[in-house]
Amino acid sequence: MNNYLSDIKQITHEKYQELIQNEKVNQNAVLASISLVQKEQNVILCSLGTGSKAVGLNHMNEQNHCLHSCHAEVIAKRGFQLWLYEVFSKPNEIDKYFEKKETKYSLKNDYKVCFYVTQPPCGQAQLFPESKIYGMSAARPFSEFFKETENIPNCDSQRLRSTPANSKTPIQQKNPSFCCSDKLMIWNIVGIQGALLNQYINPIYIDNLIIEFREHFSLKQVFDVRKRSGKNKNDILKINNKLISKSFRIQKPKLIYTRKNLFTHSPYHPKNDELNKRINKDINQQSLQSFSYLYVDSCGTEKINSINGLKWGLAKKDISRLQFLPKITKFQLFQKFKNLYYSFESKQLLCNYREAKNRNIKYLCLKTNIKQCFQEWSLNKIQYEQFQ
Ligand SMILES: [Zn+2]
Repeated sequence: MNNYLSDIKQITHEKYQELIQNEKVNQNAVLASISLVQKEQNVILCSLGTGSKAVGLNHMNEQNHCLHSCHAEVIAKRGFQLWLYEVFSKPNEIDKYFEKKETKYSLKNDYKVCFYVTQPPCGQAQLFPESKIYGMSAARPFSEFFKETENIPNCDSQRLRSTPANSKTPIQQKNPSFCCSDKLMIWNIVGIQGALLNQYINPIYIDNLIIEFREHFSLKQVFDVRKRSGKNKNDILKINNKLISKSFRIQKPKLIYTRKNLFTHSPYHPKNDELNKRINKDINQQSLQSFSYLYVDSCGTEKINSINGLKWGLAKKDISRLQFLPKITKFQLFQKFKNLYYSFESKQLLCNYREAKNRNIKYLCLKTNIKQCFQEWSLNKIQYEQFQ
């Protein structure tokens, strides 16, 4: 294993231990982190997220801009966007990481983007035939999944699916966010910087996807849009036979499974088989942690209530107050974007979040193409994106 890979794991787990040091919590929460590795040596931990819950539909409404998904992967990715806003608020930091190419900034070639997660992401990457499940707490047999989803349309592998709900969640309450496998697959086309930042930054792609996984088969197909949809490159990257933008591509990150030398805190460490069984039991009893952590380099940490998607420990009366929203909600990141817009354009951005996002026509076209590859887009969040 390359040295920097074990560094990434070590730094991620050590940071998590630091976050939870004064708490009595599950040592085996799902962790995800995004690091930049400079010249294959110097590891910069940009963001870290923990958690495996998504907010129920009953907590999502137009007035409450809570964090809809508190899965570790989503928190790490949004944390990375917050990290980018921090970088772009300091001119000499921009030059450290980015160079300007024509009209937009590109991450310097010196840096590799590494996404690390301590279990296969939810959705497609966690589904296995019964016969192949072994020692993996996240794995779910097909039969269980199909039982859960028999009343939900759009669940076959040719389509994108929403986050798995635990079996007690009524279908009407199910969170419509995409599961992490599908999100990662989409990020491999549009990048992890998001539609807003893409107006100033070229797509940032994951170079290495590091998954703690000790099974003996590959997850490659799960994250490859062409394999999943059966469509070719042109269906995805072109419109009317013309490339949408030469800055987008179909990224195939290097998939690295960390079967050996696992960090001892990992539930997949061979020593932890007993622990693993306990986690399985916990999952069955739905006693997963009801909070998530966010850490962002130079921004600090935050504890998030993953039942309602708000900051941890809020009194009910504070819930509608925007300053109590987690730093990585769409609302808060949009405020950061408005500041960035002002610094680049010297004028105020006068539109709502959805309009600002849709101004990035190329990004929008690309997403529309992806949607068409999968027949239907199960997600409809338009009503949650009208804020300013
Ligand atoms: Zn997930």
